[in-house]
Amino acid sequence: MSLPKSNSQTSPLLKGKGLPEFNAITPEHIEKDIPNLIGNLNKEFDLLEKKINKQLELENKLEWAGIMEPINELSERLRWSWGIISHLNGVRNSSELRKVFASKQSEVVRFNNRLGQSKTLYKALLKLKNQPCQDQNETEKRIIQTELLSMKHRGVGLDGESQKTFNSSSEQLAKISTVFSNNVLDATRQWSLLLTKHAEVDGLPERALETLAEAARRTGDKGTKGLPTAKEGPWRVGLDMPSYIPFMANAKNRSLREIVYKAFISRASAGEINNEPLIEEILSIRLQQAQLLGYKNWAELSLSTKMAGNIEAVQDLLEELRAAAFPIAQKELLEMTKYAQSNGHSKNSNLEPWDISFWSERLKQEKFDLNQEALRPWFPLPQVLNGLFQLCGRLFEISIEPADKEAPIWHKDVRFFKVLDRNGQAIANFYLDPYSRPDNKRGGAWMDECLIRKRNTSGEVVKPVAYLICNQTPPTREKPSLMSFEEVETLFHEFGHGLQHMLTEIDYPQAAGINNVEWDAVELPSQFMENWCLDRKTIMNIAKHWETNEPLPEKSFQKLCQSRKFNMGIATLRQIHFALSDLKLHSEWTPDSGSTPDEIRRRLVPLTTVLPPIAEDKFLCAFSHIFAGGYSAGYYSYKWAEVLSADAFSAFEEAGLENEEIVQAIGRRFRDTVLSKGGSRSPSDVFLSFRGRHPKTEALIKHAGLTEVKC
Ligand code: ZN
Repeated sequence: MSLPKSNSQTSPLLKGKGLPEFNAITPEHIEKDIPNLIGNLNKEFDLLEKKINKQLELENKLEWAGIMEPINELSERLRWSWGIISHLNGVRNSSELRKVFASKQSEVVRFNNRLGQSKTLYKALLKLKNQPCQDQNETEKRIIQTELLSMKHRGVGLDGESQKTFNSSSEQLAKISTVFSNNVLDATRQWSLLLTKHAEVDGLPERALETLAEAARRTGDKGTKGLPTAKEGPWRVGLDMPSYIPFMANAKNRSLREIVYKAFISRASAGEINNEPLIEEILSIRLQQAQLLGYKNWAELSLSTKMAGNIEAVQDLLEELRAAAFPIAQKELLEMTKYAQSNGHSKNSNLEPWDISFWSERLKQEKFDLNQEALRPWFPLPQVLNGLFQLCGRLFEISIEPADKEAPIWHKDVRFFKVLDRNGQAIANFYLDPYSRPDNKRGGAWMDECLIRKRNTSGEVVKPVAYLICNQTPPTREKPSLMSFEEVETLFHEFGHGLQHMLTEIDYPQAAGINNVEWDAVELPSQFMENWCLDRKTIMNIAKHWETNEPLPEKSFQKLCQSRKFNMGIATLRQIHFALSDLKLHSEWTPDSGSTPDEIRRRLVPLTTVLPPIAEDKFLCAFSHIFAGGYSAGYYSYKWAEVLSADAFSAFEEAGLENEEIVQAIGRRFRDTVLSKGGSRSPSDVFLSFRGRHPKTEALIKHAGLTEVKC
């Protein structure tokens, strides 16, 4: 049933399979090929819908192969082509690319919406699920189940008036969410303070002073000696992270910290830019949508697609962590207060929220004296990769070899590797784009899918290929890329996502690798890999000085381990406070509940904070994660996934990390369950088959140091 595919022979953007030829793809290709491709896909989908409708009318038995395979084929062609464009948009951005990307994005969204809202497809899937003679395997059943649920949440099952209401409220919701996040950005951008005296920036490190002077240069400020400089000022402090965080952690001037803190915590909460009414509107629309779809509230809807499953399960888990973290957080605050009082803070006054970062930073330096910069020479990239690959060899019985030149790349620094199984068979590949390129590469780190594993009808397997993107310190003429410990952790993290993508054994792309893995379980492999960064054997294997070959001093290793637990009580409580606020707003607030969202949040204060929020604290007005991002009634996922990953790692700890044979056996089991089963089973089943029991919070509580009494 496929139509002639125009250009597919000639355009590198329409090949639809294999490794992309990044350098052959131009903005002109995108401009022309994407509309053509979508045009063709629409026509093919028309034909498919007709065919399915006929089968439904004739009440024929439906087959997986007749529905899911053509649908997957259509989506994959678009994913393959559009995937390259969004990849390039992230790693080799240019104004032309950005423009053409933005201009074609809505067409892509529209096509995906058409698929997701097709009543014909929905009916066919329902029939596939319910028809009497079932011949689908478990993976197929789970894929159908997920697809049905996601279509249901798009309103496909609604009729007439209710569908109209649903659609218009969806549009309204998208619009307000955008306004919400723009308001946060504007409020962040619009506030700043010009500092002209040295006493006002006392305590700030050189790098922070440079950032603030640069901000002053950008706004055209001038000092008595001309253009702003780090040394002489003037300096402009703002509410963006690179400016705000070092200022709060280092500025000795307490009253300035108070001013900056109050500006930060009340962003987008008054005057022209006020998100307060938007919060109520967003919550009302979500509640209405959830009820239209047959749920009690938005939290119930959100959790229906997640591993946690229901509100009680989330609350129980958060309560276990809260109960452990609360007394520790109290002690941490007491210790910090005592330290502050004997180091210059007034003897009779308590710490206020604008003192926390500052004194926490001082105490941390005093306790651990850990200079992250000074550790870099022990972590040159080639050694880190070597150690990471050896670890993967030990745990998962794979080997990883360079395969540069076997694939086209988008930048000269990009590496290409192959992953081999124990018989030396190539099973996957990955690209690694390690260094930061502020000019044209998006910040942060991520794993993305280049090719997804799939078994074709002919039995041939498409090998998975991953993109691993980091933004670490580039090498110089004299030195290799010397990584900070945080950069090492980031690489391990992304590699964990990559392993789940590459070691999958699932033949259905809809459930291979990270596909069809629940939102709150998807960080399990990535955070699991991070744990190995503090495993003595792993780290000592990596950390040798790049010039002298001297091993990392034992003292530094110990400090790294201890500093991980520093103020974890306070940090844990903070995440719990956010997660519970999110959950309560999406399950208890209604337009006539008689409470404002802020009041609901403040009811949680006694049990989830050790330093109550001040009256000016309008944190919800800047909580973009849940009001403008994908985290609504899902913020808890951060903690949930941490519980899973810590618990998974503790299987190794319990058996003894020194016991190589057992470590390897458990590693194989991790590979055969979590890494290879992907989204083909429920994450609870997958976890159960790895751990032999359901997840427990103990390991995370122990790792975070929330068990021992500190003073
Ligand atoms: Zn991640």
